[in-house]
Amino acid sequence: MGNIILSQLEQSLIDQKNIFGDELYENMIIQRKTEIQSISKKEEKNLIKDNTLKVPNSFGEKKSGLNIGNDIPKEEWQLSDTLEILNDKICNCQKCQLGKYRNKFVFGSGNPEADVLVIGEGPGADEDAQGLPFVGRAGKLLTDILLAIQFTREEVYIANVVKCRPPGNRAPLNVEMAECMPYLLKQIDLIKPKVILCLGLTSAHGLLNKKDSLTNMRGKIFELGSAKVMVTYHPAALLRNPNWKRGCWEDVQQFRKLYDEIIKVNGKV
Ligand code: SF4
Repeated sequence: MGNIILSQLEQSLIDQKNIFGDELYENMIIQRKTEIQSISKKEEKNLIKDNTLKVPNSFGEKKSGLNIGNDIPKEEWQLSDTLEILNDKICNCQKCQLGKYRNKFVFGSGNPEADVLVIGEGPGADEDAQGLPFVGRAGKLLTDILLAIQFTREEVYIANVVKCRPPGNRAPLNVEMAECMPYLLKQIDLIKPKVILCLGLTSAHGLLNKKDSLTNMRGKIFELGSAKVMVTYHPAALLRNPNWKRGCWEDVQQFRKLYDEIIKVNGKV
């Protein structure tokens, strides 16, 4: 009972932090993460010390997309020229500790040539069991949100900043995101979306390499290679805090407008 209350309290604090972007609860969250992870003291020290997300060669610019480590020796997966091949090359990855916790690797799903890419945080229990992103209640809500702005799940692509489930549904750590982010950037390079919607602060921080509050990031347009990026709430947060649905609705309407403008300029409609 005590653990359930502690988990609910912690989730509430994380939600507040996601919205207001302050550091007030950082220490408590890290402490709880440590209990959930059962990692060694040595790893814990390194993880807490490493507060900066470092993604090597991830944000270089190329006319049509991203520079995925062109200045370092290539690993085999970097040479993949389709999503299917990339999935095959990385599905047994053990580059970070999340690899040993997963039941199923969650690569992503949807249209490999999508103009719209939706990026969440990481797989939860349902996703880990099925090997698919955004299934379960949060997934159903995401489907409804997309439909509300006239997108079907089949026409967009959906992925996460990490491809293996963090234990206890905690947020992925910076070191884990840094290991996994090159895979996501390679997916983006292959899909070449025109617009990207980040769901939640972890997704936005991971992809944009920015340390800012969700409040400050919502409503703004960022750039990643040739894609425009916007940020809104994670559907799981909306399930816990329905009051935020209105803000999400405003965000996604803006996102749809951005998409329409870009497509119109490109002469596709
Ligand atoms: S989360 Fe990413 S980097 Fe970590 S083991 Fe899974 S695929 Fe590899």
